[in-house]
Amino acid sequence: PHEGPDLQTVKNIRKNKLIPGLITYYKEPVYVHQGHMQYLWDTSGRRYLDLFAGIVTVSVGHCHPTVVAAAEKQLRKLWHTTNIYLHPKIHEYADQLVSKLPGDLKVVYLTNSGSEANDLAVLMARMHTGVFEGISLRNGYHGASPYLMGVTALSTWRYNTPTGFGFHHSVNPDPYRGPWGGKHCRDSPAQPGRPCDCVLGQCQACDLYVDQLEDVLRYSVPKGRVACFIAEAIQGVGGSVQLPDGFLKKAYEKIRAYGGLCIADEVQTGFGRMGSHYWGFESQGVTPDIVTMAKGIGNGFPMGAVVTTPEIAQTMGRALHFNTFGGNPLASAVGSAVLDVIDKERTQALCANLGTYFITELDKLRSEFEVIGDVRGKGLMIGVELVKDKKSRQPLAAEEMASIWEDTKDMGVLIGKGGLYGNCLRIKPPMCITKADVDFSLAVLRCALQKHQDSQ
Ligand code: PMP
Repeated sequence: PHEGPDLQTVKNIRKNKLIPGLITYYKEPVYVHQGHMQYLWDTSGRRYLDLFAGIVTVSVGHCHPTVVAAAEKQLRKLWHTTNIYLHPKIHEYADQLVSKLPGDLKVVYLTNSGSEANDLAVLMARMHTGVFEGISLRNGYHGASPYLMGVTALSTWRYNTPTGFGFHHSVNPDPYRGPWGGKHCRDSPAQPGRPCDCVLGQCQACDLYVDQLEDVLRYSVPKGRVACFIAEAIQGVGGSVQLPDGFLKKAYEKIRAYGGLCIADEVQTGFGRMGSHYWGFESQGVTPDIVTMAKGIGNGFPMGAVVTTPEIAQTMGRALHFNTFGGNPLASAVGSAVLDVIDKERTQALCANLGTYFITELDKLRSEFEVIGDVRGKGLMIGVELVKDKKSRQPLAAEEMASIWEDTKDMGVLIGKGGLYGNCLRIKPPMCITKADVDFSLAVLRCALQKHQDSQ
């Protein structure tokens, strides 16, 4: 049973005392109080299938029993000390986490959030290269700290203050909306081996987007010197925009030619969610110099991490770096249990199989409904972009989006929102869903889209 204030009291508190500006998605906010694996329950006892996982954060399942047991065990022993002393958990965890990374990525710094991780990564790159300027992609979200507001290239998340200067935003290699297309240059489980659809033909899109990046390096960055380039393999907040295959490889080559470091933001794409790979960057065939993680790393427990090479870590060693809670015993125990579950439950393989099925079925819906402009993603990192009609690609109006969302919620499925125009469905569930959940979600979506179509 639900314990706590009633919905009206909570709504009043929210309106007046708790982050009043933050949206709650639905006309009547969902008032949740309990979760188990892929499900959430509201205070009236209604169950929802959670396809957004607390913004791609609940990786192995709400209150996963193995993770709960590990946290409970550690809670009774020691919550917090400081990294000035040694404690076993953080060391065991650091060792376990780096074993998941390729190449020379062997040194970990533990933080409490994704923003902290990206702040530290950018600082590391600046310290190591002795250069201030950096490059990110338009439509990318990397955090909300004053430092990162300049890195994030979505105006929704930026204030009109002089913060985070020194970052330049290159043209987004968006295969659906980008000037050169490239839809078929991205790997699609729904349509393997499909022919090129680049605007100029012959799969040139990727090179043309990289040329834009080189223009920034040549003409925007002082003396052509750059500290770093940061990108996600599939942009999360930006609407699950899947970069064309090979983009990061070519982009990394350019950045390195100009002396910069490459940072992979794996806050949403990491820990097996891509299905084909454990990390998003691997799906693009690259090895970064710095990797940042958060969200799924703790299955909802607030934590984050930066992993880099011993050489870069040495630069950081020249000054004192300290984070009070980063890697506390509780977080380390939770993080370690999450890694165990991902291995034991073959989570990555589940993402690959169910993700391919989900994307393929959504693509069939795309051919049925004029309103579905694009279906994209890998594994359980999926995006569906809704448009007025396929030809114009005009983003679906906000009110129409809202009513589709409302209907899916009323039928018991919570889906994420995103994209530059707020017209993308973000499907990134806990990585423990079943085929029956996917079939149910597809049926619900079909119903909501049919209702929308009939109302036209
Ligand atoms: N990077 C990416 C890709 C993200 O999606 C987010 C959060 N949405 C962040 C960084 C920042 O993480 P946090 O909210 O934990 O600071």
